[in-house]
Order: sequence, then structure tokens, then C-alpha cells
Amino acid sequence: MRLDRYLAGRAQLSRQDVRRVLVEGRARVNGEVIRTPDREVRLFDRIELDDALLQPGKAARYLMLHKPSGCVSATCDPTHRTVLDLIEEPDKADLHIAGRLDFNTTGLMLLTNDGQWSRRLTQPSSLQGKVYLVDTEDEIDSCCIEAFARGLYFRFENLTTQPAQLELLGPRRARLTLHEGRYHQVKRMFGHFRNRVTALHRERMGLVQLDPTLAPGRYRPLTTEEIAQI
Ligand code: URA
Repeated sequence: MRLDRYLAGRAQLSRQDVRRVLVEGRARVNGEVIRTPDREVRLFDRIELDDALLQPGKAARYLMLHKPSGCVSATCDPTHRTVLDLIEEPDKADLHIAGRLDFNTTGLMLLTNDGQWSRRLTQPSSLQGKVYLVDTEDEIDSCCIEAFARGLYFRFENLTTQPAQLELLGPRRARLTLHEGRYHQVKRMFGHFRNRVTALHRERMGLVQLDPTLAPGRYRPLTTEEIAQI
């Protein structure tokens, strides 16, 4: 939200008063005097007006979890363990998942309370590749490489998938890079060729790689560099 709108709503100021407050340098965002009305402010910013603290600024949280198999990508579930059950943080109720994984899929999962950040990862037009290691029941036909690169038609959604890159690593193992996240997408893409995915593991989202020192079920905060990579 723009700072002028925030001040008008939160401090109940008229437009004219907001303009004066800003010109007089009486509003501070994160300790810095801001005079520009269109400065964007967020839940994570500390906002002060004269001596009044209007908003303390929430701590932004970014976590990397090594999702284990047998765990639901949801914040609550009546029967199964969820990924949030693996997180021991006081403010974990504020977290949401940036890119879900199926019950038995393992690997990199990012959790955050920053909706703007997670949208960059998950919106369909996202350029951030999601990289999966895929094991299949039958041998992977090399014609999948071209078919996945061209895109497959998904009748249910009436769409063609974005070009995806398939690298064959063995007869039944491949690395697949997707640039979107459709429902059961990897399984459906291989299912198109009547091949069943027997194991699926997400290695990377954008430039953020699953930390190899994280055992399944363990998590850690993202580093400043990793946060900036999304
Ligand atoms: N595609 C799938 O089919 N399952 C996942 O968990 C992720 C991508």
C-alpha cells in the first residue's frame, strides 16, 4: 500500500494533512524520513508518525524445509502430519507454503509469511524453474524430451503446459525443469506416456537449491542471498 494511503487510514488524516505531514518530514519508515507519498509500505515495515509508532513491523520469515514423504503440504489436516507440524517457530501460524508438493513427494519446500515474495515463485508466468528428480516404473522414452519441450495438452484445464526441459539420467531416472506448477504436473506429464512416477524429489526452486546438509523433516532459515535470489 502507498504510504499516503496508509497514513490517511491509520492516522485518520485528510489528504491535505497527509501531504503536510510528508512535506514536513514527520513520517518515518524503518527509521528513515520519507517525503514521497507513493512509497510502498508493507506489514514488515516499521512506520512512525512524530512520536507515535503506527506499526512496529512484523519480522519477515523465509524457511527452507526438506519435505519428507508421507506428509501433507497444508497448514492443517485432520488425519495426516502436515509440513507445519515439522516447524517449531512461535509465529508458524503466519507461514504459508510457496509451491506445494504431493503427499509422497520429497525435497525442497519454501515457507514464508511474505506473500509478495512467494507470488514471484508460484505465479503461472514465473520464470523461476522448479527442478525435479524423477524415477519412473518403465523406461523413459526419449521422445518425451521433445514432447515436454513442446508442451502437453491438459484437457481438464484446457491448456498446454509451458516448455519443460527433460534430461535423461538413466533408463528410469530423469531431471525435469518446470516453469509452472499445475496440479500433479510431473505425474500427469509422464502419465501421458503411460509411465508411472515412482519417486519424485524437488531439488531446486529458481536459484535456491535444497541444502544437502538438511535431513528429511529438517528446516533452516534462508540466507539473505537466497531470499534475494527469488
Ligand atoms: N508434480 C507432481 O506431480 N507432484 C508434485 O509433488 C510436484 C510436481
